[in-house]
Amino acid sequence: MKLTVINALVVFCWCSLRIFALPDDIFIGGLFNSHDEEQALAFQYAVESVNADKLLLPRSRLHGRIVNLTSDDSYHAAKRVCSLLLDGVAAIFGPQTDNTANHVQSICDAMEVPHIETRWNVNEVRNSYSINLHPYPPSLSRAYRDILEKLQWTHFVILYENNESLVRVQSLMKNASWNFVLRKLDESGDYRPMLKEIRLSPINNIVIDVSRDKIYEVFRQGALVGLMTDYYLYFVTNLDLYLINLEPFSESGANITGIQLVDPQDGDVQRLVEEFKRGELRYGHSLPMDYMISTDAALIYDSVELFASALTALEYSHQVDISKLYCEGDKTWQHGTSLINYMKMVPLKGISGLLKFNDDGFRADFELDILEMDKGLLKKVGRWTQRGGANFTRSWAETVQVKEKNLRNKTLIVCIALTKPYTMEKQSTEMLTGNDKYEGFCIDLVKKIAELEGFKVKFMVTPDGMYGNIDNKTGEWNGIVKQLLDQKADLGIVDFTITYQREEAVDFTMPFMNLGISIIYKKPQKKSPSLFSFMSPFSVDVWIYMATAYLGVSVLLFILARIAPNEWDNPHPCIQDPDELENSISLSNAFWFTIGSLMQQGSDIAPKAVSTRVVAGIWWFFTLIMISSYTANLAAFLTVERMDSPIESADDLAKQTKIKYGCKMGGSTYSFFQESNIPTYKKMWQAMSTASPSVFTESNDKGVERVQKSGGMYAFLMESVSIEYEVERKCDLMQIGGLLDSKSYGIALPPGSPHTSIISGAILKLKESGELHKLKERWWKGKTPCQSEASATKSSGAAELGLANVGGVFVVLIGGMAIAGLMAICEFMWNARELATDESASFCDELSSEVRFILKCSGNTKPVRKKTPSTPEEPLFTYGSYGANYGYSQRKQ
Ligand code: GLU
Repeated sequence: MKLTVINALVVFCWCSLRIFALPDDIFIGGLFNSHDEEQALAFQYAVESVNADKLLLPRSRLHGRIVNLTSDDSYHAAKRVCSLLLDGVAAIFGPQTDNTANHVQSICDAMEVPHIETRWNVNEVRNSYSINLHPYPPSLSRAYRDILEKLQWTHFVILYENNESLVRVQSLMKNASWNFVLRKLDESGDYRPMLKEIRLSPINNIVIDVSRDKIYEVFRQGALVGLMTDYYLYFVTNLDLYLINLEPFSESGANITGIQLVDPQDGDVQRLVEEFKRGELRYGHSLPMDYMISTDAALIYDSVELFASALTALEYSHQVDISKLYCEGDKTWQHGTSLINYMKMVPLKGISGLLKFNDDGFRADFELDILEMDKGLLKKVGRWTQRGGANFTRSWAETVQVKEKNLRNKTLIVCIALTKPYTMEKQSTEMLTGNDKYEGFCIDLVKKIAELEGFKVKFMVTPDGMYGNIDNKTGEWNGIVKQLLDQKADLGIVDFTITYQREEAVDFTMPFMNLGISIIYKKPQKKSPSLFSFMSPFSVDVWIYMATAYLGVSVLLFILARIAPNEWDNPHPCIQDPDELENSISLSNAFWFTIGSLMQQGSDIAPKAVSTRVVAGIWWFFTLIMISSYTANLAAFLTVERMDSPIESADDLAKQTKIKYGCKMGGSTYSFFQESNIPTYKKMWQAMSTASPSVFTESNDKGVERVQKSGGMYAFLMESVSIEYEVERKCDLMQIGGLLDSKSYGIALPPGSPHTSIISGAILKLKESGELHKLKERWWKGKTPCQSEASATKSSGAAELGLANVGGVFVVLIGGMAIAGLMAICEFMWNARELATDESASFCDELSSEVRFILKCSGNTKPVRKKTPSTPEEPLFTYGSYGANYGYSQRKQ
């Protein structure tokens, strides 16, 4: 009984195994073109590795039947497929060529046998029995577009090989904001004429869509025509870029970006490659030491693995037998549909990434590595995914580091134009060669930057001596800009102004100097001292006011003295009772008194009345201030050299026609005036452009020379830092006015140069460390002949004192005079009142008689008015207070 149960179980197990099982030997057919040896090899290895894997097809053995197709003959291929089907195969792999593949596909479809492909197939529909492991071309095309967007390419050349390439890059051509030029590779194999054309064009970004075997050749020929330099960026669409030896271009500086589906650094891939190499002899193939699997071979390998895992899955649900099929017959393979569905459903991690398919049989969710060449090796710098697009993993700092590394030990050609003090030929008795021939501020600056960043420089002088102007008719640049655009130089340096137009053509670093346009003009000659230079401290109106004040004060003093009773004095002090009194301040004495005090000499005339003393005091105050001011200003006039310039600003230049003015022909100053819309500068441009003979000069040096020789009849518009340099050395020149604009000098580089940010960084470092300032001091200052003169010119010269400076003194003088007048009136009235009381006369009579006497304005004596005593003891009536003080008495006459 026990035995019966065991027997039953064994039978059941045996039966169940027999029900869901695969044949012991499963055949698969592989169609490969005879030149695709590697793919056939990969197919064989894949079969072998499936057989070695205990988890895949544990009870069956896979056999690969390889058919080598010698030509793209679809009839021949179809015959071979039919013979494979007759032998009983579970799937057909390949071929790679379009024509035969389509034929094979239709047979497989008819026979319901899975057809597994790994070729680039742009067809938008997949047949039901077909599956393709190659990334779907429109998805790949999207990847290219995403990457170029991330690289910020907007202008590029697409270098393509055949029409198939155009389909591949169509998404790039559909982007309306991109400008591209299509260039087809010449079938002759000589790509140089076409590559040369690209080099002469202003486009520096190149998309290369060519087959693997042509990539190296394109780069090699590109290098021959100068297309493999720092200024060119390449994007290679071929998934096999990692197989190309880029070592020869490692020093070129060219920036090569590419993509890969298979990562040669991946452990699984490397293990597989090692296995390939170990088993090579069994298949009679010999693989090179540095062999690396290609994308196509990896896809073949993955396809066999995928097929095996689908078959394994099928085994658990179906009793699979592989029937022999006649192409001409009606019989189809019943398991084909299930098998192909399993292949689409079961995701598998292959060496080409995740093997996942959508319902239409297109490979879904594949990912690409983004690569960049770094010293001849391709480094992963990002990843592209179908959902997330392109993402660069390298940080900005890492990018800069790579650029810095690339720049190290390189020799950059520096284009210069000879201009003082930026770039000059060294004066020496010895024969100088190479970089030793040049010196100057810019030469030192470049050397310092090179030292900082670890690169070498070689100076070259631009052949035409120009900085860079565009010919509006031909659109051609000249000078340094041309050299940069032609990539004959890597850097351009001189007093190179950053302008909008130049910035559009070339790249500029951060500015190393700031400046503006100004005027250089001949210093006015020292004026020979004039005969009347003593008059200079005061302006003419002050002199006139002073003379008027002198007259006014003198007359007022005289009048007040006549009014003031205390000014009337006993002329002979020994006579006790004089008959008349005398006034010492006659008109002439009044003039003498005021002039005496004005000249700081004094006189023996002394005012006695309060009013006259007020006048005298105020006048003395006035003279004190005026004389001090005069003395001080005269000293300044005598020590400071006063130079009058006929022009003080650009406005002055614009207003006149006598003094001609010009600038350097074709420089940024020339362009500034040519394009300015400011009325003054427009007017100046009008005057300059129509002047005959021409006011423009070949160089700044010539302009400065012309200013020196013109005797004040020519002014030169030049950049302020250059003016600063000239006036330090040519003492007869000076800068007139301020700056007309504000701009900077920078180092120019070819467009898209990878060195711009590094050199800008170096300039900033030199600025911050003060090195740049030291350099400027060294080349501008030093022992220059005009330093003291320059500072004297800068100090403001003494100017005559105007009424505004001394007007206050006049006000005080007038105020004092008014007070004095008032006091005189008071004194006069008081005296008249006293007299009236004494003489018992009316006040008005006394006042009028006194006024009449004063108004006579003649005679310095006044009869004493003696008081008639009512009794002999009655004291005498005193006429005035002075008289009273002195004991003189006046009697009424
Ligand atoms: N720095 C000027 C330039 O770059 C040249 C001198 C000038 O125009 O004043 O063109």
